[in-house]
Amino acid sequence: MGDIKDYKIATLGSHTALQILKGAKDEGFETICICKKGRSKPYESYKVADEIIEVDDFSEYFELEKKLMDQNAVIIPHGSFVSYLGFENIGKIKAMHYGTKGIIEWESDRDMERHWLLDAGLKLPKIFEKPEDIDCTVIVKFHGADGGQGYFLANSPEEFYERMKDADSDRKYVLQEYIVGVPIYSHFFYSRLTGELEVMGFDKRYESNADSIGRVAAKDQVDVGIQTSYTVTGNIPIVLRESLLPQVFEMGENVVKASQKLSKGGLFGPFCLEGILDPNLNFYTFEISARIVAGTNPYVNGSPYTWLRYNEPMSTGRRIARDIKEAIEQDKLKTVLG
Ligand code: ATP
Repeated sequence: MGDIKDYKIATLGSHTALQILKGAKDEGFETICICKKGRSKPYESYKVADEIIEVDDFSEYFELEKKLMDQNAVIIPHGSFVSYLGFENIGKIKAMHYGTKGIIEWESDRDMERHWLLDAGLKLPKIFEKPEDIDCTVIVKFHGADGGQGYFLANSPEEFYERMKDADSDRKYVLQEYIVGVPIYSHFFYSRLTGELEVMGFDKRYESNADSIGRVAAKDQVDVGIQTSYTVTGNIPIVLRESLLPQVFEMGENVVKASQKLSKGGLFGPFCLEGILDPNLNFYTFEISARIVAGTNPYVNGSPYTWLRYNEPMSTGRRIARDIKEAIEQDKLKTVLG
């Protein structure tokens, strides 16, 4: 039987590192946090890291990889991890990596992602190939827009072209049906060891200034010319109407099943379906994140859902460490690496 004392858990100091490292320590692992110089304070103050390695830039990851490998460190990817390293570099990681690397490619390409989610039987907002096709409210999303900067709504081709006059016309965009409803981000965990899908919790994002626009009268919004932006500033926990849960489980299970056709080994570990729930209680999914999302951060001490199942504090970060621990103890570590 393997011993977790022979392994460490490592991640980059950002995004969900606090709960990943805290969860790893709760499961008995030693932890390593790779931090940008000047940004290590939270990881020291909350005492989640046994070792902090400071770098000038996360692109130095590959230079220190040998050091991580010498310590038998298992790397936990998170949202910032993928964006700092670049998804094209994820495949170059030689250290032990939790999760299937191949699936990141599917997540990073809008067309591949759409194919995957449709194959899983999910409802998706319609996509319009060209502005002339617009026949309902659409959200115009610019590629690479940090925090949805510059996104706007249009109801017709004419309105689209009118509003495009103010935008940088060289930027690539996608025209997506705008779903009127509430945003719900559903957090899942699928373990290859147990073969079971777990629903870990839900959140919505707290976005500036989309979430503050309602604080001023519509007239003032127009007079002052407020532009909607969606910079994420934090996450708000949500407990879902219980009768919706069967549908949520089914969606998660179908996404995992569909992923097994796309990439060797399929999706496992934490993932998130980001969508809108309309007044008829239809879930429209507009994105999948195939790794731990920051929306799980309110649940460092577990969510109402993980409490039901575990009867002990179980964050998504800790659930990852539990998966790795069980794999080590069953001599199946390879099962959770990819
Ligand atoms: P990410 O950082 O996850 O790539 P982003 O900041 O580029 O995302 P999105 O999350 O895609 O942008 O969308 C920004 C906002 O618009 C969010 O509040 C989201 O809930 C909302 N939104 C996105 N797509 C739709 C849609 N089809 N209908 C209604 N609202 C949407």
